[in-house]
Amino acid sequence: MKKQKYIFVIGGVMSGVGKGITTASIGAILESKGFKVNLIKIDPYLNVDAGTMNPTEHGEAFVLDSGLETDQDMGNYERFLNKSLSNDDYITSGMVYRAVIERERNLGYGGKCVEAIPHITDEILMRINRAAMENKSDISVVEIGGTIGDYQNALFIETARILKIKHPEDVMTVLVSYLPIPNTIGEMKSKPTQNAIRQLNSYGVHADMIIARSPLPVDDKRKEKIANATSVPATHIISAPDIESVYDVPLNFEKDKVGEIVMRILRLRKKGSAPGLGAWENFAKSVKTFKKIVKIGIVGKYFDTGDFVLSDAYISVIEALKFSAYSIGVKAELEWINAKSFERGADISTLGKYDGILVPGGFGETGIEGKIRAIQYARENNVPYFGLCYGMQLMVIEYARNVLDLKSAHTTEIVKDSEHPVVHIMPDQEKKLLEKAYGGTMRLGAYPSILKKGSVAAIAYGKEVIEERHRHRYEVNNAYRKMLENGGLIFSGTSPDGLLAEIAELPKKKHPFFLGTQFHPEFKARPLDPHPLFTAFIKASIVSKK
Ligand code: GLN
Repeated sequence: MKKQKYIFVIGGVMSGVGKGITTASIGAILESKGFKVNLIKIDPYLNVDAGTMNPTEHGEAFVLDSGLETDQDMGNYERFLNKSLSNDDYITSGMVYRAVIERERNLGYGGKCVEAIPHITDEILMRINRAAMENKSDISVVEIGGTIGDYQNALFIETARILKIKHPEDVMTVLVSYLPIPNTIGEMKSKPTQNAIRQLNSYGVHADMIIARSPLPVDDKRKEKIANATSVPATHIISAPDIESVYDVPLNFEKDKVGEIVMRILRLRKKGSAPGLGAWENFAKSVKTFKKIVKIGIVGKYFDTGDFVLSDAYISVIEALKFSAYSIGVKAELEWINAKSFERGADISTLGKYDGILVPGGFGETGIEGKIRAIQYARENNVPYFGLCYGMQLMVIEYARNVLDLKSAHTTEIVKDSEHPVVHIMPDQEKKLLEKAYGGTMRLGAYPSILKKGSVAAIAYGKEVIEERHRHRYEVNNAYRKMLENGGLIFSGTSPDGLLAEIAELPKKKHPFFLGTQFHPEFKARPLDPHPLFTAFIKASIVSKK
């Protein structure tokens, strides 16, 4: 039987220094060496999934094909591996506890006392192994969220320890640490890392490799210092200074022989055929060798805690725009426009400086009138427009209000008894809201759509059957579809039964690019496989460039 190998990635010192990118990069390197890899994110919080969390606090909810709403790291994993991951690649404490408690209620433990160890750790292990089986992988890279020392992480670290005892040659641990350079001292300090390793040791887990993150490269002297104070050899301490593009990380790791070190520790034999990192190198080059800049304005609302969080809330959209731009030799320069500002009287014509305008997904009333005005501006001034989910629904509302003259057109998400509910709740969703069953109940995950021959969408995709990921409760109201179509809007994509509007667009002769999707194409955009709709939008934006 094939032996599964496991790499646990754990954070020390502080969070937010690139554990997710490290995990994804190790995965990309091992795949480039011909191994099949699956990446698992463990989130220690009690939410059963990431769908109920506010994006300003926790960043975007990334949706898998299965419909599971997950942490944005899962997006990084899929982008770096260039493949879709399985439902079991995402684990939260909430999921694990729920399963164990439900099993206990069903007498699944046969009258035994159910305890954190071994029952919770067994459940975690079972899920890790199930994910490996589903992905048919050789190696599972498991990222444990947060940092060592967080109480809520202890059972996950304990699971890693138990696994290592059972399979000493098949399990390794990578510590992602941080070496600060305090301004007042001006010197890189290794003590927090030394302490983090000791803390990890106190769990009975030993680091096999350290990814030493720092503003600057970590020199040999510090590597020696860490090596002397711990049991990690200096050659297994990898300097990982801040860099501009996260897509350089796999290449930098490869230069430092991370792949070879992992192979040695896990006793992995070299594969005969391996794809290598050539495609990745080409992509990393395109990030630096663009010829033109295209300016895209993103009209959004998740601004409350500053720009950093904003980019977290829309990370897949941002990355999707960049990938498509790089793939045609340009750089997408993105600017955030707070939709609320147009409601407070900001001049809408300031949108004139953008080559393209995008309204991403969203929920609720905040900024909605500002977004609708931005869409109207794009339509009337021939500025390419791309609407994602809410951005598509609002595009339909704008069209109904300003072209069909249905001035009160709205979505029942905001006005329950709207006179013209051009967007309304999906029939099976109404009951869920009444029961307050909010978690994991939207229309989620991958569904097929059929595209209209010759439409902007069909031409962009180059095919007429597609599959994209969804996350919504509302939809275009079919009672208004004929009227909208007679008014010139084309529903160029629908569910196979024709009942659900998936794409709305204006024909090329009426507008350079005015298209919205009920689904979220951004979830399937990859650096090595940019999304055709984003590419079509960027291309149209270049043409309309002033
Ligand atoms: N709020 C809208 C809905 O629930 C759009 C959701 C979204 O943009 N993801 O249908």
